[in-house]
Amino acid sequence: MIQLSLIVPMYNEQEMVPVFFARAEEVLCGRFSYEYIFVNDGSRDGTLAALKNLARRYPQVKIISLSRNFGKEAAVTAGLQAAAGQAAVILDADLQDPIELVPVFWEKFQQGYENVYGQRTDRRADSFFKRFTAQAFYKVYNKVADFPMPYNAGDFRLLSRRAVEAVAALPERERFMKGLFSWVGFKSIAVPYCRRPRAAGRGKWSYWRLWNFALSGLASATSLPLKLWTYAGMAVALFAFVFAAWIAYKKLVWGNPVSGYASLMVTILFFSGVQLITLGIIGEYLSRIFTEVKRRPVYLIDEKINF
Ligand code: UDP
Ligand code: MG
Repeated sequence: MIQLSLIVPMYNEQEMVPVFFARAEEVLCGRFSYEYIFVNDGSRDGTLAALKNLARRYPQVKIISLSRNFGKEAAVTAGLQAAAGQAAVILDADLQDPIELVPVFWEKFQQGYENVYGQRTDRRADSFFKRFTAQAFYKVYNKVADFPMPYNAGDFRLLSRRAVEAVAALPERERFMKGLFSWVGFKSIAVPYCRRPRAAGRGKWSYWRLWNFALSGLASATSLPLKLWTYAGMAVALFAFVFAAWIAYKKLVWGNPVSGYASLMVTILFFSGVQLITLGIIGEYLSRIFTEVKRRPVYLIDEKINF
């Protein structure tokens, strides 16, 4: 049986294919029995050709080519569902996740850990804004999620056979992998590492994409934003009763020349805003329910090579 499956999602990484492969072989060759599962996530450059070139020469190179770009979460899912090893390691193609750590992960796996994740000790490679927003996201996530997620842990990790099967079997379409990895649990341990800058090519995550990614993570981890409005509503209703009583009292005791345009306007505008926000939040969840009930597959495979 194969010991290790290396799952590498690739989207427009043609420069990285030979570099990544050379580096990985250097670390792994002769130490493990392993397979690569390169998932070509609908690349529009020469990634697939470069991968096929490798697959012709090396039987351990397996390729899953998706029918279009489905996003990293779907690509990783495809890799996990095809992995045959006793354990699987998920790696980025850009060498930001150091391959030298794979033997360290393996050692932890031998000690009985089934969810061994890399934890970034140093995010100097990221911009200040990215670090700040990432930090804020982890904070909020861990406050509201029913199951916490370790700080600064990404997708870079080793999962045991059991954990791989558990993640692969989760039926949701909206796949926030980091959340799913922490959801499945099992004996976990962090391995600290320094995240390097990208070796070549360009990052694929715009801030808009990251924002949506964060929303999707939060929405799949908790329904707290929905429940919040029940309490907000109650508080407002209570305030309204007290205020109504006060107005009635004023009217009865002093009579009431028409006044209060400003306060009326402020109240209307404020609560219109609150109601729109509430609707928006319900909409966020509704759109996710919509994606789930359509029950479309998470990805479609165009081609499988060397399986
Ligand atoms: N990736 C992918 N599909 C996408 C976007 C990215 O498979 O739609 C892959 C990409 O090729 C890389 C990994 O996901 O191997 C991480 O991407 P990137 O380096 O752009 O992200 P970052 O390092 O900024 O998290
Ligand atoms: Mg990267």
